Amino acid sequence: MATPNPVTTQGQTRTQTEEPTQAAPNIWAVAQQQFDAAAEKLDLDDGLRRVLRVPKRELTVNFPVTMDDGRVEVFTGYRVQHNVSRGPAKGGIRYHQDVSLDEVRALSMWMTWKCATVDIPFGGGKGGVIVDPKQLSTREVEGLTRRFTTEISPIIGPDRDIPAPDVNTNAQTMAWIMDTFSMHHGYTISGVVTGKPISIGGSLGRNEATARGAVFTLLQASKVLNLPLSGARVAIQGYGNAGSIAATLLAEQGATIVALSDSSGGIHNPSGLDPAKVSAWKREHGSVVGFPGADEVSNAELLEVDCDILVPAALENQITAANAGNIKARIVAEAANGPTTPQADAILHDKGVFLIPDILCNAGGVTVSYFEWVQDMQSFFWTEDRINESLKEIMDRAFESVHAMSEHREVDMRTAAYMVAVARVAEATNLRGLYP
Ligand code: GLU
Repeated sequence: MATPNPVTTQGQTRTQTEEPTQAAPNIWAVAQQQFDAAAEKLDLDDGLRRVLRVPKRELTVNFPVTMDDGRVEVFTGYRVQHNVSRGPAKGGIRYHQDVSLDEVRALSMWMTWKCATVDIPFGGGKGGVIVDPKQLSTREVEGLTRRFTTEISPIIGPDRDIPAPDVNTNAQTMAWIMDTFSMHHGYTISGVVTGKPISIGGSLGRNEATARGAVFTLLQASKVLNLPLSGARVAIQGYGNAGSIAATLLAEQGATIVALSDSSGGIHNPSGLDPAKVSAWKREHGSVVGFPGADEVSNAELLEVDCDILVPAALENQITAANAGNIKARIVAEAANGPTTPQADAILHDKGVFLIPDILCNAGGVTVSYFEWVQDMQSFFWTEDRINESLKEIMDRAFESVHAMSEHREVDMRTAAYMVAVARVAEATNLRGLYP
């Protein structure tokens, strides 16, 4: 069997865009600050605030992997479950050298709000391993994945906590997790992860779902602002699963892709870049950089190019107090998790930028993960049309509730999404009551 490369380049752009004058804020402090703001607006009970502001369960594992040369390395990984009031924990696993417990905590909390924003019956979880998988062979990544799965297997499972792909993990990684977990139990348990290959219980449309969901929210935003996607100029930071597919889908809508980037740097051409040609270039050369007929830009410069729509689709802490004032886009669509700091949020809001917050914008991925899990549990698989139509229904409904909250309470779209989500989780937590 041919082994696909387990590590796709999921557009990581951290080093190039750090603030020159101040350290990037701690992302967990940011997540808690965002929650506090929503809790305040919702006038949430103090006890409930204390419950929801911390993860329910955190597991840290240090585990050995035998490398190709026989050396034994020990890696550190995490699985954090923020909240399970509305259903099993749900969220991806990322492999990255900058993973930390605080980052995984923040990402797990964001998953709770994301699942509640789109109103699917999951709580929030996240996992991560501190590793640069690009430095490892395929066999080493497989060994690391299988041992990490073994270490976290006491707390995952189709009814407990269901991992999925995230930065630097993909369908092959999910196949290894599913196989390892199933081997321990002695039978195939496909519902333990989502984002699997189609042939072993994956869902049609899951690979494109994050980008497709983001485009559905952009179509809604374009109606609100009367800014048609056809003819809109778009800049996308990150060329992994979300960024590269968003480029294709937006070009299909008639948008002009003026700038693209990956972890090595960016390219800019005001008269438009063809995503199919850029993808072919990246496959051959390993990066979008060097694409013929385009100017080179850094990841920091990409955020500030002249465009109508900016799509951060890489990592956290990209739009900060240092560069938010220079952003020219009218819409920022957060395909990444946590790309904008709270200070930058305030600056963008004052400038009149329409922001589609991450917990709404990129929720298409987890929504089709939900469809995948339902299909696995029923062993009954849907057509791609049914999946895409159901995704559109859920994304449109979520956009409408968030936008209505934003108008009604006169708050920005992020605060509105938090208010919708936190209210749903608070209701579930209250109804269930505290045990004992
Ligand atoms: N990692 C993705 C996210 O951040 C998908 C999670 C999932 O499908 O469970 O939303």
